[in-house]
Parts: sequence; structure tokens; C-alpha cells
Amino acid sequence: MPHRLSKSRYTAGVQCHKLLWWKVHEPLAVELQPDKVLQDRFDQGAQVGTLARTRFPGGVLIDLPHTAVAERVKLTRKLIDDGAPAIFEASFLADNTFVAVDILTPQEGGFHLTEVKSSSSQKEEHLPDAAVQVHVLSRSGIHITGVDVMHLNKECHFPDLSNLFECTDVTAAVQPLLGKIGWEIDAQLAMLDGPLPDVPIGLQCHEPYKCPFMERCWPKDAGHIMRLYNIGPKKGCDFLLTGVNRISDLPATQKLNVTQKRQIRAMKEGRIIVEPSLKEALGAFDCRLGFLDFETIMRAVPVWPGMAPWEQAPAQFSYHESNGDGTYTHAEYLAEGPKDCRPELARAMVEATKNAERVATYSAFEKTRIRGLQEAVPELRAELEALEGKLVDLLPVVRDNVYHPDFLGSFSLKYVLHSLVPELTYDDLVIVDGLVASVEIARLLFVAGKIPQEEHDRVRQDLLNYCERDTWAMVKVLERLRELASTP
Ligand code: SF4
Repeated sequence: MPHRLSKSRYTAGVQCHKLLWWKVHEPLAVELQPDKVLQDRFDQGAQVGTLARTRFPGGVLIDLPHTAVAERVKLTRKLIDDGAPAIFEASFLADNTFVAVDILTPQEGGFHLTEVKSSSSQKEEHLPDAAVQVHVLSRSGIHITGVDVMHLNKECHFPDLSNLFECTDVTAAVQPLLGKIGWEIDAQLAMLDGPLPDVPIGLQCHEPYKCPFMERCWPKDAGHIMRLYNIGPKKGCDFLLTGVNRISDLPATQKLNVTQKRQIRAMKEGRIIVEPSLKEALGAFDCRLGFLDFETIMRAVPVWPGMAPWEQAPAQFSYHESNGDGTYTHAEYLAEGPKDCRPELARAMVEATKNAERVATYSAFEKTRIRGLQEAVPELRAELEALEGKLVDLLPVVRDNVYHPDFLGSFSLKYVLHSLVPELTYDDLVIVDGLVASVEIARLLFVAGKIPQEEHDRVRQDLLNYCERDTWAMVKVLERLRELASTP
């Protein structure tokens, strides 16, 4: 059987031929099986797609399996001939490439093509997706007069979802791509008939989407140039192109920031570097101190008053407070049920933190969420502003004063904990990642009725354990930093 392309295969091939080859030849590869986070993204995308269709009254869905290509194409033709006001998943096959158009509507002199995206803006990477559809439709004798990307609208706020969608006209933007599509399809199909292509690693591994095969292609070397602190994919790949593959390959004349220089020193000397300034930096934490961490939900279609698409809203916190004698008090909150939990969460957090002089966080994430709560829970604005005034961020203290070779260029709490407090890990926990926590919270809140009680209780406990471990990790990292600061 000759290989056949689809929208998603074509766009994967535009990103990287090797990625497409693996997708086609190893569809069951473990890297391609959606994890909970990706599956949630798909589910939310499907919800957005279904809502988008409601904006086209009288539209007809090609409700046949994706494998029933001939039947789908035939039904699409019939609906066109019958004058359907809109066809959802309108299906076409040409040049060995199958596409299902999200929304196809008849228009003066031809048809209008709408590609639905669950992002909250139109992005460059949407263009090849739209362009391959225009190509296949024109090869099928359908004249496209206009192309839109219909995406979520940042200005929409729950509960008024009447402006949930916004359309960006990309008719002109896809035109320059059209001339190359036939050639690219031929190149992809020929490549798929051959062995795994040899593609060097590069920026395409990160953009427009992080490739699932990074583990296969990228070296795991701790000294790789991509491990340089704050390097970013673009700068890192520029280095690769000039033959700088390892941090040790950097020329002596290379401009580096203070943190990068400290990293290189720590790597060369194979030991932790602690700046004398650490002691003074820790002064801000010498008081009645609390430690706060949030977990959030993030929904494409907003769910609570005032929320915009994909806005993050806190739904869980963990809080440890030092009693000043080496012991700690713990408080926590985790939303239950679909109602807006933010007033209840804010009240519980204000109560828990009221005696603290300062509240430590790790990164500015909590500060941003507390500012959001000031809008969402105006009756507690004064208390939340007071709490914001108490926040003190531990991350810059580590970043500006300490580097351990095992940080591997990252100051995320997990890397720092692993290096500074190796005896405390997340290994005994079921949930070990904030993105998974977010998806699990949303599942508990919004589809709880479909989850057996036993599973519900177990996941709830897993979430509580995870968030508690984050604040306890902060406690232990601070203890270790104090030891380091007082070690001559
Ligand atoms: S990691 Fe990079 S080179 Fe490897 S398949 Fe993915 S995009 Fe291609």
C-alpha cells in the first residue's frame, strides 16, 4: 500500500521528515501515546470544535469513521450538491493526501474554509495546516475563496460565551505557501517509501511543537550546550550550527551572564559554588515564615466568573508555616465540585497565612495567581493585597547565589531539590508534575460524576500529597541554603 498523508502527517513532515517517518512507521511508539496532559489537550480541542460548529446553524457533520475515506468523500460531494449551508469535517482526497476540513461553507464563487483552533490567537504554525487543505480542495475541483482560522478570543469572559470565538482571515497569508505544497507532498511520500531519514537536530525539534522524539535524537550529555542556563532553543541551535555542541566548546570570548559563568565554574570544578552574598540574601527569610504553593486549572472554555479562555485559576494550595522551634504547621485546600472555588480558597489561604510575617514561594507564579484572586474575590482584596506584600521568592536567591553541577542548567524546584536535598524526592508519589496535577484537578471538578468514588478519593489524596511535597521541598531547600551560607 502506498503511504497516505493527512493534515496532521503533512504538518509533522513540515516540521521534520524524521518525525513524520516515525509517526507513520511506528504509530505505536511509546512516545506517540498521549499522556494525561496531551489527552486532556485533545479533549479540550474536541470540546472547542463542537462548540465552534454551533456557530454555523444547519451545518451537517460527516459523521463517519476517519478510516472510511471513500464514504466520507462521497458524502461530502452529496452534501455540496444538496447545498448544505455548512459541512463539518468535509472530506477530500487528492495527491494521496486526505483532509477533513473543520468547516466548509458555500460562498459567492466558491467555498470558504474555516480551520478551528483551540489556541487563543492565530499562530504562524496554523498556516501550513490551512494551506494543505486549500491545496487538496483545489486539486479536488473546489475553489476556495477565503480561509479563516477560528480561534478562542482572549476578550471573552465567563459567563458570557457569545464572543468565545474570533476569526482571523489568513487567505492572503496561505497564498505564498501554496506553490510549494505539491512539491512537499511528493517529497514526504518519497521519503516515507525509504529508510529513516538522517535529519540533524535543530530548532525544528522545539518549534512549532516540542517533538516527542527528543529522547531518541538528543544527547543526554550533562555538558551539552542546551544545558547552559537560560539558553533557549533559538540561541542553543545557533550554537549547534557553529559547531559549539558542548558548554566546554564555548569560546573564551563568548559573552555570558553571571549565572552562566557560575554554572561553567561549577562544572569545571565539579563542585557546588556558593557565593558569599547568599547569607545576606537569606536575611529576608529570617522571620515568622510560611511557604505557599498553588496548583491551578486551565480550561480552553472558561468555567468560572470573569475567566478568559486558558486562564489559570488556583484550585489548590499547600501551606507550611514555621513555628520557630524547628516544627511546622501545615494547612491545605483542594476544591471539590464544579462551583467557583476561588472565594473559599482565598478565605482559607488568608486565614492560614495571617500570622506569617513573610510567605516564601518558589518563582513568581503564586504572586500572579494572588493578583488574579484580588480581581476574582473583591471582598478579600485588602487581605489578598496584604498577603501579596508578604511574598518573598526563593528562586532568585538560589539562582543568584548557588550553582550545583547537577542543576543541569535549571533552577526548577525539582532540580534544585534533587541536588541540594537528595534524601527528599518525589519518587514515592503518584503525581509528580504540575501539568498532570492541573489535569487531574480539572477531571475531579468537572467530570467527577463519571469517576468511581474510590478513584476520586485516591486521586484527591495523590493531589494533596503532591502539593504538600512542593511546600515541604521549599522548607528543606531553605534549611540547606542556610547551612551552605553558614559553612565557611
Ligand atoms: S527530535 Fe528533532 S530531529 Fe529528531 S525527530 Fe524530532 S524534530 Fe526530528
